[in-house]
Amino acid sequence: MRNLSSDSRLLSLNTATVDPLWSLRECIEGCVRHGVGAIAPWRHKLVECDLNAAARAIVDSGLVVSDLCRGGMFPAADAAGRQAAIDDNRRAVDEAVALNARCLVLVVGGLPPGSKDIAGARRQVRDGIAAVLEHARAARMPLAIEPLHPMYAAERACVNTMAQANDLCDELGVGVGVAVDVYHVWWDPNLEAEIRRAGAAGRLLAFHVCDWLVPTNHLFLDRGMMGDGVIDIRRIRGWMEDAGYDGTCEVEIFSAEDWWKRDPDEVLRVCVERHRTVV
Ligand code: ZN
Repeated sequence: MRNLSSDSRLLSLNTATVDPLWSLRECIEGCVRHGVGAIAPWRHKLVECDLNAAARAIVDSGLVVSDLCRGGMFPAADAAGRQAAIDDNRRAVDEAVALNARCLVLVVGGLPPGSKDIAGARRQVRDGIAAVLEHARAARMPLAIEPLHPMYAAERACVNTMAQANDLCDELGVGVGVAVDVYHVWWDPNLEAEIRRAGAAGRLLAFHVCDWLVPTNHLFLDRGMMGDGVIDIRRIRGWMEDAGYDGTCEVEIFSAEDWWKRDPDEVLRVCVERHRTVV
């Protein structure tokens, strides 16, 4: 069993962590400079450059792509909207393949505008993933469902617990797994058992870390650096390892008021240090 925190080669930089500060190319160069072994690009970063050129730059730098963020956002008010989401997710699969990503992360989407039918939204999510799955399987690109904290159920993701994500995986079958983001699931009393369940099914595809600050100001963009909040990240990491997870530990920090205002080289330096001491 590998110790995820002992080696910065097993650390991955999710580009959201330095999103307004660095282009994709600068992120790649920053990872190399700081000994970070992996990268997880957001798709909007790929717009800055040619996809194949980005893939080549990542390979030439010796970086692993822990995942591509993100597909998903399946629910829509009408059939045309749902089909557009499916088409976009097929393109995301192709991009993930071009980048040789370990998986495509799905932020599945919340309620369609005007809707109060969360059960219906969850059915649309299931049907949307099912509609993309054949394409993903043919491309050998695993889809990683990321459960989001319940406060995001309306706007971002109506899959909110690991149990829900595991149930969806059971229903959909081969080619679907789970991305575990400590920010979203740390509070869940069933977290350890559901990580074990996901591990037993071989579906632990990604591990995202940051911290939950107290108090938390604005919920989308106030994530903390590992060690600055209340999440026992090392304990959760231990559960991941015990369940057989052998991927990277991916730092994903949205922080409009703090980390996005610092020198990105300082951000990476602290990420590497906290990965060693806290994760
Ligand atoms: Zn995440």
